[in-house]
Amino acid sequence: MEHIYDIIIIGGGPAGYTAALYASRAGLDTLIIEKMAAGGQMALTGSIENYPGFEEGIDGFTLGMKMQSGAERYGTKTLQSQVTSVQLVGNVKTVETTRASYQSRTVIIATGADPRELGLKNERELIGRGVHYCAHCDGRFYKDKIVAVVGGGNSAVSDALYLAHFAKKVILIHRRDTLRATKIYHQPLEKTPNIEIRYNCVVTEFLYDEHLTGARVSNTVNGKTEDITCDGVFVTIGRKPVTELFAGQLELDKNGYIVADESTKTGIRGVFAAGDVRTKALRQIVTATSDGAIAAHFAQEYLAAKA
Ligand code: FAD
Repeated sequence: MEHIYDIIIIGGGPAGYTAALYASRAGLDTLIIEKMAAGGQMALTGSIENYPGFEEGIDGFTLGMKMQSGAERYGTKTLQSQVTSVQLVGNVKTVETTRASYQSRTVIIATGADPRELGLKNERELIGRGVHYCAHCDGRFYKDKIVAVVGGGNSAVSDALYLAHFAKKVILIHRRDTLRATKIYHQPLEKTPNIEIRYNCVVTEFLYDEHLTGARVSNTVNGKTEDITCDGVFVTIGRKPVTELFAGQLELDKNGYIVADESTKTGIRGVFAAGDVRTKALRQIVTATSDGAIAAHFAQEYLAAKA
């Protein structure tokens, strides 16, 4: 008979490995399936300065490895493979991967979200060298420097206001002639003298040597291009949740996130969504780890009620 796990966790980022730690410590038979290396988005981060307990910061790759070994110490098994489909309804759930098929009584989905990229040449290789996707994570590196924020929605404007506290100047680059951000942001924006807004502009190229030196910007109305000098560019044009596998089985919001509240419970019993993948206000490592612990707690409760 095929082995049935107590918990299968899909995704080995901070949410996944925290869920695994809590589940294993509770004595549950736990499998985590990760398609790449442990750490998720953290692994892209050179220095994490806002995860408590590391007063001098820690690089994301190391933190990911620590989370993995912390969970494995209590018995979590890690499988490196990509989940290709899931069958979530019923008492026994099935998770298909590129290697084999696995069964479990509960599933915690922790597949995260990817920041939307501009899709420009060299964008990926400049990540951490001037191109960023998270102002709250990396903004502090730009004290007294010039930064650009690309976007015009609430997140972009909120990032621009945040960066304006310590950057010398913030240039907000927006492709339309008005901001999409809600009115509540407009007054603080007008009152912040070191934010300059460039409307009807798109970034067409990153300028760099070892590190980013600026951005080439094209005006969508008159077609003129201009090279803007800046030390960093924060791309804030939204995030893309990794939820294609679950569409049709779980409720997704209009942006594709799995609908789940602070309990991490989804619409299917025994299925939980933890971390960046679910509907929530703040997508950070601490909120992902918090979700992981809560998901494991409710999975344990669900299993106990079934026993
Ligand atoms: P993720 O970290 O996205 O992990 C999801 C995992 O699931 C990934 O490893 C992925 O490979 C795996 N996966 C997805 N699909 C499948 C599949 N089909 N099969 C198997 N595995 C799958 N937050 C902070 O608090 N501080 C920071 O300094 C910070 N810096 C950041 C810098 C960058 C460049 C980025 C992009 C984000 C940063 N963040 C930071 C945000 C933080 O990394 C995320 O909020 C956090 O990693 C979310 O954790 P998660 O476990 O929910 O998802």
